[in-house]
Order: sequence, then C-alpha cells, then structure tokens
Amino acid sequence: MEKYILVTGGAGYIGSHTVVSLVENGYTPILLDDFRNANRIVVDGLTQILGQQPIIVEVDVCDEKGLKEVFERFNFVGVIHFAAYKAVGESVGEPLKYYQNNLMGLINVLSNMVAFNVKNLVFSSSCTVYGEPKGIKEVTEETPKNFPSSPYGFTKWIGEQIIEDTFKAYPSLNLMNLRYFNPVGAHKSTAIGEFPIGKPNNLMPYITQTAIGKLEKLTVFGNDYPTVDGTCIRDYIHVVDLAFAHVKALSFLEKNEGCFETINIGTGKGSSVLEIINAFESETGQKLNWAFGLRREGDVTEIFANATKAKNVLGWESKLTIKDAVIDAWNWEKKLAEQNEK
Ligand code: UDP
Repeated sequence: MEKYILVTGGAGYIGSHTVVSLVENGYTPILLDDFRNANRIVVDGLTQILGQQPIIVEVDVCDEKGLKEVFERFNFVGVIHFAAYKAVGESVGEPLKYYQNNLMGLINVLSNMVAFNVKNLVFSSSCTVYGEPKGIKEVTEETPKNFPSSPYGFTKWIGEQIIEDTFKAYPSLNLMNLRYFNPVGAHKSTAIGEFPIGKPNNLMPYITQTAIGKLEKLTVFGNDYPTVDGTCIRDYIHVVDLAFAHVKALSFLEKNEGCFETINIGTGKGSSVLEIINAFESETGQKLNWAFGLRREGDVTEIFANATKAKNVLGWESKLTIKDAVIDAWNWEKKLAEQNEK
C-alpha cells in the first residue's frame, strides 16, 4: 500500500529536498504547490533524481475547497506543511500578506486533518521563535521563546501555538514542530537547489551569486558583535540533512499515538559569517568580493542549536558539513548559470 504524504510547498527549497528523501525512504509524496514562489524547473530536477515525475497538485494551500478535494482524493498517512512566505524583510512591509497566507494555510491544513482523520503533521518552524536568546546562545527546546523581530517570525511563533492548542483539543493527533536553523547547500546531483526570488536575503545564496558575478559585492552586516571575530553566529544545516529529519519525524509520529513534540533541527555548532566566507573561498578556490558594512536591523547576535533531542527522540543527527554545503551550493550556482546561458 502506498504511504501518501501531503507535502505542501513541495516545490520549494526544503520541500523539494524532502520529496526526494521521502521517496528514498518508501513514502509517496504528493507535492502540493501553486508555484507562486517556486520555479517549475524543480519538477525536471525531481524527475531526474527520482526517475519519474512525482505526483503534483497545483493548489493554493489557503484554498478551502481545493485542499479539501486533495484530502478526498488521497488517503494520507501524514502531512508535512512547508507552504509559507519566508522573506523576513518583506514581511515587515506586508504583514497582512504574511499573517493571511502563513496562518490561514496552516489552519486549512489542520482543519482537513481533523475532518479526514489524518493523524500525523510535521510543521516547518524556525529558530526565529527564540528571538535573541538571553544568556546561553546554545538553545534547547526548553529555552523560552522570545518575540521575533518580524511578522514572518511571528507567523512561526503563532503557528506553533495553533498546533499546540489543536493538540489539546484533539489529543489523538500526532503533531510536531521542527525548528530549523539556517538551511544551506543543495542536492549533490545539482538537479535541485535553492531559487532565491529577486536579490537573495540569505547569506549562502548571496555568497554564491557574488562569486558567479550576478551580484557585485557581499556586504558582511556588522563586525562589532561580541563574538569570536565580530560577525554574527548561526547554525548552518545542510538541506539534505534537514530533509531527512522530516522522514525521521514522520516515522516517529507514525509509531507514537497522541503526541505533540517540538524539536530543534540544527548541527549543534555555530559558525560566524567570516568562517562561512573562508570555508567558501578555501573549498571552491573562488575569491569573494566582500566588505564589512553596517549591522542589519533585527539580526540576532548569536544562536545555535542544542540538537540532543533530535538525536534522542528521532535518532537523527546532521552528517554533512559546512564544507559539503559550500561545495554543493557553489555547484548548484554554476549549474544555474549554465542553464541561463542555454
Ligand atoms: N549576512 C550578511 N550579509 C548578507 C546576508 C547575511 O552578513 O548579505 C549575515 C547576517 O547578518 C547573519 C547571517 O549572515 O548574521 C545569516 O543571515 P541569513 O539572512 O542567511 O539568516 P538569518 O538572519 O535568518 O539567520
């Protein structure tokens, strides 16, 4: 019997890598995406990796009638809910768009799960719910949440609360928040990777686009933070490792009736911006044009995961390194450049 998993936002960066990992582990993902923020080339990439095209339903996750029809069509074992807007800066200018899409999408998913008795949900949350951690920068799931600095961050903060409250009302559901740290890298095949829309906000695509010449210069936001080298520290997790965490999460949920869990998905190690730049330059042999600039408003100084719970509960830990990530991200960028030349 097919084990159908609904993957909302399955054509996105983390979603597409998770689709691959699901197939590799015996699940049948149903990729739901309306492609408003995803590139259709990802379908070719997935087909190349999987040897056949995954099942795709082009539906807006907020469309009540449309999503209900998808739940009618497939007997889902579980749902992985990625579909959401994710640009921090944009969310400050367009908060209503973010609250509408990110919260209504989640509510629509949960409503259908209740109506169709689909038990297992993995929700894409983020370490942004910790805000700027007070004191220790290595955060466990017990570290108190702080108010995030953007409406995007609040959609994850409130999303987690919606899930917790839904669990209290429907305790036979199995619900899990995965708090991602900073996803980077791409699939080794270079068939799928990240497609930033417009100018990237995130560090890794900014580095690779600068190295390839799409962007002129990388600005390192601030060199006066109280860290080893004055630049901010994050926990950069390879997207292929992150994708596999979803498979482990699902298999845990399938075995544990009536559970609600929140789990950090990171490497457990922090890296500074300069360390990432140095890794990129030394692993790829590319010289990067970069300079220090002013701090970016809203940036957290330092945060990295305590990833013990993921290991103990899910049996998951990161395997790939920063070196793997910079090489894979660079190969992906080169592949995109080749495609554009054609
Ligand atoms: N960063 C930077 N220049 C850029 C983009 C990011 O110096 O052009 C820094 C940013 O200040 C932060 C780190 O890189 O310290 C990671 O930023 P990103 O936006 O990728 O992730 P987030 O801020 O969400 O952790």
